[in-house]
Amino acid sequence: MSRRPLIAGNWKMNGLLADGVALAEGIAAKRKAQPDLACDMLICPPFPLLGAVVGAVAGSGVTVGGQDCHGKTAGAHTGDTSPALLKDVGCSAVILGHSERRTDHGETDAQVKAKAVAAHAAGLLAIVCIGETLAQRDAGQTIEVNKSQLKGSLPEGANAVNTVIAYEPVWAIGTGRVATPEQAQEVHAAIRAELAVLIGEAEAMKMRILYGGSMKPENAAQLIALPDVDGGLIGGAALKVDDFWAIACNCA
Ligand code: PEP
Repeated sequence: MSRRPLIAGNWKMNGLLADGVALAEGIAAKRKAQPDLACDMLICPPFPLLGAVVGAVAGSGVTVGGQDCHGKTAGAHTGDTSPALLKDVGCSAVILGHSERRTDHGETDAQVKAKAVAAHAAGLLAIVCIGETLAQRDAGQTIEVNKSQLKGSLPEGANAVNTVIAYEPVWAIGTGRVATPEQAQEVHAAIRAELAVLIGEAEAMKMRILYGGSMKPENAAQLIALPDVDGGLIGGAALKVDDFWAIACNCA
């Protein structure tokens, strides 16, 4: 089963307008110069930069996504952004349930699921993030926690075209401590097995599962080469053109 890898950059709350445009233009230029790149590339800037970044990558093949969206289409939700608006300004995807949203904003699996339903209705690819904390790993609960988050966050109607799963061990995000290939493959395989239960074997085999957590040019090759790892969700290393591009170039 060949799944086209996805290399997605999560810029988080970093950069000002000029930085974001320069970063997007740099990535777009590299992508344009290599039309036969063997992966999809997505960048997810902060909301106010979306319009400028969509313009900066136009025609390059690099796509743009949001870092979150609301579970409703419109209404009295101050500070929130609707999936319909993300789509309208040129996004094709949205990251949902990132551990920083789950921690900073108390997002639950049920809320992530509602957001994914709304994202699908707006025509966006939902990138659903799950992952265990260090305490949960140390307690031997890694597989159980990831299965439970997956079951709770995956919306009805999820399929390999409208959904991507991102396995992001919380202890590896922004820490420089990356999962070993054995740890990553074990969890990715368990996620795929649970997907088979939830959406059927055929769809599970087609769905992309990204690894996220301190992925860098120097460790990306061995992670991306794992049988159940279909690319990466990258934070820190997505803020430098050369690092982000080097990671993408590891996709065969
Ligand atoms: C992330 O924010 O999803 C992430 C994986 O960050 P980092 O690559 O910096 O660990």
